[in-house]
Amino acid sequence: MDFSSEGGVHHPDQRHSHSEDLRGGSDKIPARFQNVPEPRHLHHRYFENPFPEYSGMPLRDPSQYLEDALGLLRDIYHYFSGVNLGHTEIDIYTGTAGVAYACHRLSTQNLEEANRQMALRLADRCLDSALRHRNREQGFLTGDPGVLVVSAIFYKSVGNLEKAEDCLQEYVKICVTVDTLKVKDSTGDEMFAGRVGYLAGLLELWKAFPNNKVLSHVDVGKIVEAVVLSGRHYSKKKKLQDTCPLYFYHYGTDYLGAAHGISAILQILLCFPEALLSVRGAENDVRKSVDYVLCQQLTNGNFPATFGETDREDLVHWCHGAPGVIYMLAKAYLFWNDKTYLEACGRCSELIWRKGLLRKGSGICHGISGNGYPFLLMYRLTGNEMYLYRAHCFADFQFLPSVLDKSRTPDNPYSLFEGVSGAVCFLTDLVSPANAAFPFFDIFTDFKSTVDR
Ligand SMILES: [Zn+2]
Repeated sequence: MDFSSEGGVHHPDQRHSHSEDLRGGSDKIPARFQNVPEPRHLHHRYFENPFPEYSGMPLRDPSQYLEDALGLLRDIYHYFSGVNLGHTEIDIYTGTAGVAYACHRLSTQNLEEANRQMALRLADRCLDSALRHRNREQGFLTGDPGVLVVSAIFYKSVGNLEKAEDCLQEYVKICVTVDTLKVKDSTGDEMFAGRVGYLAGLLELWKAFPNNKVLSHVDVGKIVEAVVLSGRHYSKKKKLQDTCPLYFYHYGTDYLGAAHGISAILQILLCFPEALLSVRGAENDVRKSVDYVLCQQLTNGNFPATFGETDREDLVHWCHGAPGVIYMLAKAYLFWNDKTYLEACGRCSELIWRKGLLRKGSGICHGISGNGYPFLLMYRLTGNEMYLYRAHCFADFQFLPSVLDKSRTPDNPYSLFEGVSGAVCFLTDLVSPANAAFPFFDIFTDFKSTVDR
């Protein structure tokens, strides 16, 4: 997450930056990028968008993005071959589990066998080490639980079913205790380390193990109910029962965005419809709360990072701002089939098109790949090729030498959320945009408790 006014990137892991390896020279940039328009004007946080509006021009061949993703994979592989993984972060957000996730995602594409093996070898090495170096850190994106989810999915895909099942069972054991996690103070509900992060992990596992008996017996209803009760508790405390019956805070701040805020919480609740509908009044409470968040949309299409904030400069990041809140609005549109939410998504995407070419690298949390994902979301929602064009523009722009020269280097330049592993996922999704989804933020899938599909 990035909340700084200097455009800096803050995370507990401040390990040495190796971005020079990535930047290389212009000889590392494919020739076709020479046709990508150069940045015209620099703003404090972003590059002015130099691309023409879509007018039906032919789109790039998506297989080129697979080549780009493989180029990044080679950089990542090369970097990690010189690293002692016992000394690295292991989590999904900045650690090796996130790198393994990107490798796995790329490996499911139609690759030459040598490339596929390279992706699988790196994922295996990262996860083998991450599982051995767990540090009891809780939280889905920032702790051990996320390592278990990625490992279960990876080991199943390579046929190591016993290890996959062990990881899945261990995750399920943790989830059983999640409903009692910090229930009273409402800090335990957000995406990074709170309850809905665990739900996001369960949703991802459900996609990979749709008929798994252990998973089907997780009482997701208890977790969903705990989130609802927690939100009601804090809403009452803030006297917002009539306008926003579910309200949340994280370490004393009423965040609005995807990283720690209400929008991701409401969005993920809607991905568990059976459990949600079984809690009396919960659907109505979620809808009123979604509408309350929607009322915060600024005239330029963005959302403030926190409720009531008026003086901060616009943050156009997945973690804070429209590029993250758009997923809640999109889920609300799918859930209630109300075009009001889709129109709000459209306003978000116009803002991202104008101000989303960030100067913070190519990551998905507060980088250009993360801001390219909403266009893939809009493409899936509307089928409008303009959005695919916009996603291609963002993909092409981020690796221009002049853009790299004028961008900040993330603290964790190879990671999933801050670095190029996130770009690997984005580029991979450009190859099959009909299935594209921001990592662990898939609004097109709902968790179902039955084992039949
Ligand atoms: Zn961020």
